[in-house]
Amino acid sequence: MNILLAASEVVPYAKTGGLADVAGALPKALARLGHNVRVVMPRYKLEKIEASGERLPDDLAVPFNFGERRVAVYVDRSGEVPVYFIDAPEYFSRAKLYGESDDIERFAFFSRAVLEFAKALGERFDIIHLNDWMTGLIPAYLKTVYAGDPAFATTRTLFAVHNIAFPGLFSPDQLPKLGLPGWIYRPEGGIEFYNLASALKSGLVFSDAISTVSPRYAAEIQTHEFGEKFDGLLRARQIDLFGILNGVDYDEWNPATDRYIAAPYSISDLSGKRECKRDLLRAFGLPEEMDRPLIGCISRLSNQKGFDLILPIASQMLERGVNFVLLGSGEEIYERAFQALRDSRRSQVGVYLGFSNELAHKIEAGADMFLMPSRFEPCGLNQMYSLKYGTVPIVRAAGGLDDTIENFDRATLRGTGFKFMEYDPARLLAKIHEALTIFDEPDQWRALMLNGMRADFSWDASARHYVELYQRLVGVGASATV
Ligand code: ADP
Repeated sequence: MNILLAASEVVPYAKTGGLADVAGALPKALARLGHNVRVVMPRYKLEKIEASGERLPDDLAVPFNFGERRVAVYVDRSGEVPVYFIDAPEYFSRAKLYGESDDIERFAFFSRAVLEFAKALGERFDIIHLNDWMTGLIPAYLKTVYAGDPAFATTRTLFAVHNIAFPGLFSPDQLPKLGLPGWIYRPEGGIEFYNLASALKSGLVFSDAISTVSPRYAAEIQTHEFGEKFDGLLRARQIDLFGILNGVDYDEWNPATDRYIAAPYSISDLSGKRECKRDLLRAFGLPEEMDRPLIGCISRLSNQKGFDLILPIASQMLERGVNFVLLGSGEEIYERAFQALRDSRRSQVGVYLGFSNELAHKIEAGADMFLMPSRFEPCGLNQMYSLKYGTVPIVRAAGGLDDTIENFDRATLRGTGFKFMEYDPARLLAKIHEALTIFDEPDQWRALMLNGMRADFSWDASARHYVELYQRLVGVGASATV
């Protein structure tokens, strides 16, 4: 099949979260299954992007803002899948990927450019695979401006929701500027969302099918509690909604081959993990107390991630004698709270506020346990990375965390981590205590670590599910089950 995947962030070029990991890894997995895949993203002013790729000979004419804008397109063919970059410096040469006042205009432009780019390639795409609100207007363009365009007559869209909590809101007054007809601003069968327009809703309404990143989250977003007010719409589109678990790119996340960690290790020889722990303690300037349990956390600092469970019990957790390291950035209230925690316990707590891929790898390898008590979690990747690194996850049973982590049972030695349900700090603390009790029993702990390291969340299985879904959309193998 001929597949175009459009995303606002793609590993290794630009990343703020899990979306980038998926947009980097899924296309490779699809290509390995024999499909023809291309990826298209904005050309941000980032070193990794500017250092890669060559400019295509022909620029692209993109109708936008009552006129036409010509943009260059670059391509990087050095990987398994070609990645194309839309070069519109006034939109993408910014300090941040998102959070700018003209975000909707920036990503509407990108969306329109993606379609012009698809046409300019002169190929028919069977599937355009979209990701979150930043590409949510593409199905609206296809169902309006490009309706009847022979280039897309057989193209089907899949809109993948990585997080339903980002609605991509904007004023409907912008629609003419974006080149979209006013009629789409309506509640039923349109993009009106509580008196504003929503790019996410556009993706949900106008795409041919919707996917999300775990089966559990697919069920959760149809409920009032987790649907962020899209639950009614999602229930109405239930037969077009599929939950497909994200995979792990083991080319990137594997302690046997990881180039960022102090020593490689694997199931057959775990000794390197101790070196990684020492290296991690050093990186955070903590005493090299190798036998003290070390709990790690890597996260966007957002209220989604359960910090209002961690912070109230942090002192009690530390009193049990653990060390704690955190890598994250985001909301100031959490940044300050973790700085204060570190300042009060300098010999036990390490905090790095910022984004560092290298440090993320070091934490996965060097920590004994990984803390991820999310309020909601569409899929979550770090818990799966942790399993591969023998770093035992402590999670709340939300979304993909529930789908991927099995609670450890000391009687049968089954299970891969520690999992609790109720969103309550006391429940988290009890789980941490349970984990520490098992940690003190080396044989049990080793069995638990190995269970996790043996688990296989490679992309291959997930990519096959996507292919079945694509085939269903284009009408091939109509009996396929997803
Ligand atoms: P989300 O997409 O909600 O942020 P996921 O667990 O799906 O959560 O994916 C997060 C990804 O971003 C992981 O690859 C994680 O390692 C990475 N990450 C998050 N915060 C940081 C950070 N501060 N520095 C480096 N990597 C980070």
